[in-house]
Amino acid sequence: MAVKWEFSAGGVVYKKEGDKIYILLIRNKDRYGFPKGNVERTEKKEDAALREVKEETGVDAEIKDYLGNVEYWYRSGTDTIHKFVYYYLMEYKGGEIQPQKEEIEAAEFVELEKVNELLSFDKDKKVFELAVKKLTDVSKSN
Ligand code: ATP
Repeated sequence: MAVKWEFSAGGVVYKKEGDKIYILLIRNKDRYGFPKGNVERTEKKEDAALREVKEETGVDAEIKDYLGNVEYWYRSGTDTIHKFVYYYLMEYKGGEIQPQKEEIEAAEFVELEKVNELLSFDKDKKVFELAVKKLTDVSKSN
């Protein structure tokens, strides 16, 4: 048995259409969350976050802000994994949704108001809460 560290990065991607704001969610084994994935050894967290959003969902995005990290533990075989996920607020720039079938079951833009009840993990809800705060500021300045 060993304790291993894992570092991932991902994005809370928003898309504005008129007054409405949509958030990109992924679904995996009936759990909803944000697109994310492993940070490679030579890669910056920001680059990993953008790459993973693109790879998992097909979406091109631009980083607007940093939202903090989420930390959790899980078991993988006989190993215990201590994981950190770094999240960025991102604006949708283009690309059709195309879920990476080996990694996730679905990806979709969901109305901002419906996101909180869908998210499976409380720690993701905290990240989302901060994203909403920052988005409200963005809307004021636009
Ligand atoms: P990545 O997308 O970073 O490559 P992964 O798909 O291999 O990661 P995780 O999504 O980290 O793996 O899931 C590994 C385990 O941790 C699963 O059992 C999952 O249910 C759990 N998990 C995922 N996100 C959270 C979270 N925010 N809080 C607590 N547990 C989580």
